[in-house]
Amino acid sequence: MPAVAVPAPLARNAPLRRPALAAGLMALLPLGDAIAQTRPAGGRAKPAAPLAVPARHAAVRRALGVLRADNAWTLDQQASICEVAAPPFKEAARAAEYRRRLEALGLRDVRIDAEGNVIAERPGSAGGGATVVVSAHLDTVFPEGTDVTVKRSGTQLTGPGIGDDCRGLATLLAVARAFDQAKVATRAPVLFVGTVGEEGAGNLRGVRHLFEKELAGRTVSYFISVDGTGLGVTSRAVGSHRYRVTYAGPGGHSYGAFGMPNPVHALGRAIAKIADLQVPESPRTTFSVGIVEGGTSVNAIAGGASMDVDLRSESAAALDSVDAALRRALDAALQEERARWPRSTAALSLKVDTIGIRPAGSQPDDAPIVRAAVDAGRALGFTAPTSASSTDANVPMGLGIPSITLDAGGDGEGSHSLEERYDDGAQGWLGPQWVALVVATLAGVR
Ligand SMILES: [Zn+2]
Repeated sequence: MPAVAVPAPLARNAPLRRPALAAGLMALLPLGDAIAQTRPAGGRAKPAAPLAVPARHAAVRRALGVLRADNAWTLDQQASICEVAAPPFKEAARAAEYRRRLEALGLRDVRIDAEGNVIAERPGSAGGGATVVVSAHLDTVFPEGTDVTVKRSGTQLTGPGIGDDCRGLATLLAVARAFDQAKVATRAPVLFVGTVGEEGAGNLRGVRHLFEKELAGRTVSYFISVDGTGLGVTSRAVGSHRYRVTYAGPGGHSYGAFGMPNPVHALGRAIAKIADLQVPESPRTTFSVGIVEGGTSVNAIAGGASMDVDLRSESAAALDSVDAALRRALDAALQEERARWPRSTAALSLKVDTIGIRPAGSQPDDAPIVRAAVDAGRALGFTAPTSASSTDANVPMGLGIPSITLDAGGDGEGSHSLEERYDDGAQGWLGPQWVALVVATLAGVR
């Protein structure tokens, strides 16, 4: 039963929680405090010291200036990368183009890994050591053949995926370019990554592969996903378990074969039990039967019946607990439907297929990475709200690596629709500036 989301090899990264780059600050604290800080809320020690935001650092200020002055360049990148289609599981063309652009910006060792992620390195001045990863996702929800033409009108761009996540992809390019032009020397190496498989059925396959294979054996101190529009920070990962549940039997005539277990009835028993599951309000935990299917005729006992179930929570423990309750309900429904017809020899089976597993995880709002994001926003003149969501950051957060998802500025509307719109407004550049300042904070600057 796939209740544990993260494959065993990933656990190697888990103990590597100490933000090595804040060594100056961390040295003043017992290591235990720094580690406790990055654990999910509940039973934690006092918070670690905040990281200093280098908003006045000369090179960082130059980079922020470049991002504002060259805002048109960022928008051009956003529109043009979006016109290279990236359907689910078919991101290769956009990945190749993204790789080409990262190479053109002078990043090192730009490559496409076995899963299809694009990875580019910007070495740190300290040489090796813990790495900061900043990523955006290449994939969209739109099938092959979708018209991906982007229309521009003033500060407004319209097209499938224009905000989610062409805005994030363009922001990464803009930050890499600004760091280069302003000669920002970060202490830690920074990895710029375009991931595949963030949306829906992709089930975070890109970022999973990244941590399982590409970054295995490498210390990742912080992970930032840049996804979507606005100026908010996702600091808590809503995990989800999704299953297709199927009851099956021989089936038969509704009159002639009466007296045998009925898969549709078993499914009905199961749904009634799911509907009565008790879950905590906090941490917010939810369940839903989204799709039911089965049967062929009004006068037939069905050979099978199935449903898709979605369970979610911000808390891994609460998610595991509702998952266990679901399993008990499914088994009990099976036993009750069998027991209803004790004289029948017809079989009734239960099968649970996993549709998707996304790990849950949370950090307190005073965790250094969350504070860095909020403090960097404040340095730029805005207050970033924190929230919970399901993004690429779920995977590293589930491994205990401090992780956040940052909005990339501007205003978005209609994400996942063909009429998706992005409006850069008067201060769209604040998004890229924010990402740049957070990366500089987490990686440290010389
Ligand atoms: Zn997205």
